[in-house]
Amino acid sequence: MSKAFASRADLEEKKVTFSKLADNAYAYTAEGDPNTGVIVGDDAVMVIDAQATPVMARDVIAKIRTVTDKPIRYVVLTHYHAVRVLGASAYGADHVIASQATYDLIVERGEQDYRSEYERFPRLFQAVDSIPGLTWPTITFTGEMTLRLGRTEVRLMQPGRGHTKGDTIAWLPAEKVLFSGDLVEYGATPYAGDAYLQDWPRTLERLADLRPEKLVPGRGEALTNARDAQAALNGTRAFVTKLYQAVEAGRAAGKPLKQVYQETYTALAPQFGGWVIFDHCLPFDVSRAYDEAGGLRDPRIWTAERDAEMWNALAS
Ligand SMILES: [Zn+2]
Repeated sequence: MSKAFASRADLEEKKVTFSKLADNAYAYTAEGDPNTGVIVGDDAVMVIDAQATPVMARDVIAKIRTVTDKPIRYVVLTHYHAVRVLGASAYGADHVIASQATYDLIVERGEQDYRSEYERFPRLFQAVDSIPGLTWPTITFTGEMTLRLGRTEVRLMQPGRGHTKGDTIAWLPAEKVLFSGDLVEYGATPYAGDAYLQDWPRTLERLADLRPEKLVPGRGEALTNARDAQAALNGTRAFVTKLYQAVEAGRAAGKPLKQVYQETYTALAPQFGGWVIFDHCLPFDVSRAYDEAGGLRDPRIWTAERDAEMWNALAS
């Protein structure tokens, strides 16, 4: 039986939750669809990840307006993926902030990523025609940057590579709230098509060292205590570690990609098969892991054509 490509057959709308994590921090989540974080400072609002289209971002803005009328001045991009960044224009923010490595990825592969992500998961691009083009950061940084929104201190940090080479988190040190982007997922399958799988577990260690008491993952519900935050970190680490180990062993044994994919699927499904978008992610995840295990340092660019070719070879 052939499986529909990626998430093309996923048409069911998800229920949005806008939850308060601290007096100055909120999470916009949607049952495994991409999340957005909100930080309300003394005189400005910061949004962490924008949603896929301006029309979808307007729903985030409506939720923000139920708790504050302060201007939305900053949009932070945790990484370059289309589904999180292309709605940014709706906020009318003064600045779009990203790591330099994320900026470089937008230059190198932003356009291809946009086409490929739209084809994979059209439901997540509601009103795709409202996208004015790629989202370009106006401020870039490397390593760490602190913004003070009045009394609220926000640290933007690159804890290391993992989901992409540009991964950035937002951390509220006083409130111990962590906005992790797709470095951490909860009840949703990590996408590793652009990942650095050998680095990812170490990067998660650095996030665990922060000892977050609240955590907004890239996908899945917000975690509201230290134990659940740790569970999300551990679950993500278990997935990326087992994925890479299985693929590396298969490649070392000289097995072809398709066989490695089938064996990895069988090995991971009992523990992780119930997570959202497992069937969607796994072919991409195994493809990248197979490349990395073969010594390919940087992920290859996914195009709509490469997506279809890979899917037909592995998953159809
Ligand atoms: Zn992503």
